[in-house]
Amino acid sequence: MSEYDALVVGAGPAGATAALMLARAGWSVAVVEKAVFPRRKVCGEFISATSLPLFEELGIANDFLAHAGPPVREVGLYAGNTRLAAAMPRFPHGGERYGRALCRERFDAALLRAAANAGAVIWQPWTVKRLSQGANGLHAASVYGEDRRQATTLRARVVIAAHGSWEGGDLPTHIAACPSRGSDLFAFKAHFVHAALPVSLMPLMLFPGGYGGMVTTDGGRVTLSCCIRRDTLTACRLQWPHLKAGEAVLAHIRAANSGVDAVLKPATLEGRWLSVGPIRPGMRSVYSNRIFVVGNAAGEAHPIVAEGISMAIQSSWLLCASLIAHSHELELDGAMDKVARAYSADWRRNFAARIHAAALFANLATRPTAAKIAVSLLRRVPQLLTLGAHLGGKAQPPVLSGS
Ligand SMILES: Cc1cc2nc3c(=O)[nH]c(=O)nc-3n(C[C@H](O)[C@H](O)[C@H](O)COP(=O)(O)OP(=O)(O)OC[C@H]3O[C@@H](n4cnc5c(N)ncnc54)[C@H](O)[C@@H]3O)c2cc1C
Repeated sequence: MSEYDALVVGAGPAGATAALMLARAGWSVAVVEKAVFPRRKVCGEFISATSLPLFEELGIANDFLAHAGPPVREVGLYAGNTRLAAAMPRFPHGGERYGRALCRERFDAALLRAAANAGAVIWQPWTVKRLSQGANGLHAASVYGEDRRQATTLRARVVIAAHGSWEGGDLPTHIAACPSRGSDLFAFKAHFVHAALPVSLMPLMLFPGGYGGMVTTDGGRVTLSCCIRRDTLTACRLQWPHLKAGEAVLAHIRAANSGVDAVLKPATLEGRWLSVGPIRPGMRSVYSNRIFVVGNAAGEAHPIVAEGISMAIQSSWLLCASLIAHSHELELDGAMDKVARAYSADWRRNFAARIHAAALFANLATRPTAAKIAVSLLRRVPQLLTLGAHLGGKAQPPVLSGS
């Protein structure tokens, strides 16, 4: 049995950032991650410039800039035969003005390595199955190694749930399963080589029953990721029964969207399609059963704004800055609740508007009449794409209240 100041469940961008910050502040930290890294992940892989000052603070900026794809200076729209581009809002602070994309297999592994170098103890591939809290205030986590052949208990005063939102389980912070609906969104992602996408452009792509995006990531590859309604996915599978799910979704997109078709004409798929779902965008509790929650587990914007990685990193930064500032009093009665109140207020101030804007955009994108009206408006005023990127958070630096 081992005892730590903090236990972090999950080592995606949210968990690894929390572990890195706390370990650098001198806390003893355990991070439990069930997957073996490097691992691929469904994601568009774009990271906004708003996270780059935090990368400087975390000591990973040079590594990120050395490996990421080119700066993304334009936001675009591909819908039917329409192809539009407009300026990406420039991040007004710091040196780097534009975001870039980096594959998750490299990014997540680098962030976790930085946490380990700072002193965090990495339990990987281990899974947290149960969490409970004793009368002494210590949390106990039952963790299992691969194939459940090894098991142990980890104890910690602070537990941070950073397990994402796409898998269920028995932890109090896991999201309850919902009845399935035709409007549920399933997500797909693939890498392509030799695609004909302008390197500084990130187009939003619309197609019947879904939306997605493309961006140039490291090594000149293009990441294509998308969300598609359950009922549309079922129809795609029926229309292309001989194709795997990802290929059928791409056939559906290419048939409806000449911009995507043109970009992918010279391209070759690299690796396999990945899929996940249904995804559960929305806001959840950031402090539940005396467990702090960060990243997607705390709340998730529709991927149409491509802000989830930044929100994951920034939510951990908000929480850990507050935990570190109150380190000396965390054992006192009510201290955790005080941190939770400050974090909850910061979380809403930073992310609530972005989550609402993303839900509105996703609704417009997946309703045929609304999408048609939106596209004809954007054709007349493409600068609205810049405004949309603003509303999605592309130029909003994270703000800590200092409370
Ligand atoms: C189609 C699509 C496109 C997207 N495109 C973008 C984009 O371009 N830019 C962007 O910023 N965001 C994008 N996102 C969102 C982004 O992928 C997520 O918001 C981000 O991964 C959330 O990070 P996280 O650390 O909270 O969770 P995750 O990245 O999901 O990490 C959670 C980790 O916890 C581990 N875990 C889970 N349960 C346990 C357990 N019980 N014990 C131990 N480990 C556990 C998992 O293995 C995983 O590694 C996209 C999402 C989708 C669906």
